[in-house]
Amino acid sequence: MCGIVGYIGPKNAVPIIMEGLKRLEYRGYDSAGIGCMIKGKLKVWKKEGQLANLEGILPEGLASNIGIGHTRWATHGGVTEANAHPQVGSRGKVSVVHNGIIDNYSALKKKLIGEGVAFTSETDTEALANLAEKFLGAGMAPDRAVRETLKLVSGTYGIVFLFTEHPDLIIGARNGSPLVVGVGDGEMFVASDANAIVRHTRQVVYLDDGETVVLTRDGFRTRDLRDAVVDKQVEEIDWVVEETGKNGYENYMLKEIFEQPEAVGRTFGGRLVPEFGTAKLGGLNLERRDFFDIRRVEIVAMGTAYHAGMIGSFLLESIARVPARAEIASELRCRNPIVEKETLYFVVSQSGETADTLLTLREIRNKGGRVMGVVNMVGSTMARESDGGVYIHAGPEMAVASTKAFTCQLMSFNLIALLFARMRDLSLAEGRALVREIQEIPDKMRRVLDQAEEIARIARKYKNAQSFLYLGRGPNYPVALEGALKLKEIAYIFSEGMSAGDVKHGPIALVSEETPVVMIAVKGDNLDKTISGMMEINARKGRIIVVTNVDDERITRIAEDVIRIPETRESLSPLLTVIPLQLLAYYIAVELQRDVDRPRNLAKSVTVE
Ligand code: GLU
Repeated sequence: MCGIVGYIGPKNAVPIIMEGLKRLEYRGYDSAGIGCMIKGKLKVWKKEGQLANLEGILPEGLASNIGIGHTRWATHGGVTEANAHPQVGSRGKVSVVHNGIIDNYSALKKKLIGEGVAFTSETDTEALANLAEKFLGAGMAPDRAVRETLKLVSGTYGIVFLFTEHPDLIIGARNGSPLVVGVGDGEMFVASDANAIVRHTRQVVYLDDGETVVLTRDGFRTRDLRDAVVDKQVEEIDWVVEETGKNGYENYMLKEIFEQPEAVGRTFGGRLVPEFGTAKLGGLNLERRDFFDIRRVEIVAMGTAYHAGMIGSFLLESIARVPARAEIASELRCRNPIVEKETLYFVVSQSGETADTLLTLREIRNKGGRVMGVVNMVGSTMARESDGGVYIHAGPEMAVASTKAFTCQLMSFNLIALLFARMRDLSLAEGRALVREIQEIPDKMRRVLDQAEEIARIARKYKNAQSFLYLGRGPNYPVALEGALKLKEIAYIFSEGMSAGDVKHGPIALVSEETPVVMIAVKGDNLDKTISGMMEINARKGRIIVVTNVDDERITRIAEDVIRIPETRESLSPLLTVIPLQLLAYYIAVELQRDVDRPRNLAKSVTVE
C-alpha cells in the first residue's frame, strides 16, 4: 500500500529517499515523512497530503548518510501529521516506517501504556517503535530487539527500523508486505518496491516472510525470527527502468489509456504462433501433456483484476470449453476453498502484491493446488510464489485507477484461452483466424481512441448526473462492472454495473429521466437480447448512451448518444468496449475537477486485507 525507502552509505540519503518515494507515491499518498540522523540526533519531518507537501518543509541543504522515508495509506488512525510515519518511540530511540497492519496492536499498546509508555499517535505502528525501545532499554542489541518485538506481533508488515544510538545500521523485516534490499558498493538500500532503488543498484535481495535484515554500509545479514542465519541469493534486476513520465499528457491516467494499443501489443508480442494458430506461454511451465489433466480453471482476483478474471473465465469456457469461473479472492478465503488436483488456478493482480489475492494464492498452494500468476510487476511476490504465469507486460501503471493493466490482463486471458482451445477443440483454421483478429486489436483500439473528443463531449453533457447504470451481456457484462467502477473510483459518482439480463429483476426501478444508462451492444450471440433490454430502458425514459459496433436502426432510434467502435468477434470485444467507458469516466472526473491520478481514499496496490 504505502511506500518505504531507506538508505545507508556515503551519499546524501535525503534526495535518494525522496526520489524513491516519488516513484512509490501512487501506492499511498495521504501523508509522508522522512527520518534521518544528523550529527548524532534523530530528525523527523512529516506532513499530511502529497509528497510535495513534505518536500516543501524540508530544510534546504538537508544532508544525512542514513535515513528512512514513507508515504502512507492510513489504516489505523486518521490522516494527520501525528499518524504519519516514521513513528518514533516515546524515548526517541527507535523510529519505524511500516506497511501493513498489526492485528494485535491494541493489546500491545495497552500493555505498554500500563508500563508507563506514552503514545502520541493512533497508529498500530507506534506500538512497534515502543516495543523495540523497551527491548533496547533492557540491554538488547538492535537486531535482537527487533526480533523480540516481531515475535510478539501478529499481522502484516514490511517494516524498517532506524536506531538513534546506532547510526551505522538499518533493520528491515517482512511478513506479508514486500521488502527488497538493494546491494550497492559501500552503500545499502531498502524499499517496499525495487522500482524505488533500481536507479542506484540492480543487485537486490527479496526478503521472504519471517525474515529480518540488518543493513550496514558494507553489507547485509538476513536471519529468521529464531535468529538462524538465512542465506539469501543476490538477484540481478533484469528489467529495464521504464519511462514513468507523463509524456506530454495531463496526467498518468490519460497517458495510460492512450498507451493501450502498444501495451496489449507487448502482451501478445512473441507469444502468437500463426503457423499453428495458437499461443506460446512458456512461463506457465506446463508440458503439453499437462493439459489433458486440467478439468477446470478457477481465477481469483480483486477489483479491476477480478473483472478481467470474469472475462477470462468466459473466454476459457466459450473458446476453450474448459469449465471456468472467477472468484473474488477475499470471498474465496472466507469459504475455506476446496482445492482440487484437476483445477488450474490463476491469480490476477497488476502489482502482484494484492494482499487478498496473495493470501489466497498461498492457501491454494498450501493445499497442493497449482497456481499461475497473471501479473504486471516483474519479481513481485505473486510472480515469485506461483507455479508459473504470464507477465502481462503493461509497463508501469502509475494512475491508481487501472486501465492498461486491465486490457493487458484481458489480452493475457485471450492468449491463455487460445492455447487451451487449441489443445482441445479449436481447429487449426479457427485458431489461425483468432490469431489474426488478435493481431488487429491494437489498430482497432487506436480507432476507438480517435473518438476521445466525442466522448469528452458526451462527458460534459452528463457530468452532473447523480448516478449512472452500466449494462452489458456475456463478456461485456464484466465490462459494464468495470465501467461503473472507473466512474466510482475517479469521479466519485454512484454507479452500478450489471448484467443487461438481470436489470429487469429489480434495478430497473432506478431508471428515470435522470439516469444515464451506458449500454454495450456488440455483434454476436447477445445482440438481439441487448437491444430488447435497451427498449425496456427507453420505455422507462432512461437516457441511453450506447457503445456499439453495429449499425442498427433500432439502436440509433432510441439511444441518445452512440459511441461507435470497430467490429471484432464478441470474445475480443471487451478489449475495445472498455476504452470508451474508461474515457467517459476520465472526462467526467476532469470536468468535476477530481484528482484523476490519485483519487481520494484509494491506493494503488492494496497490500492490506
Ligand atoms: N497501518 C499503518 C498505519 O495506518 C501503515 C499504513 C500503510 O501501510 O501506509 O499507519
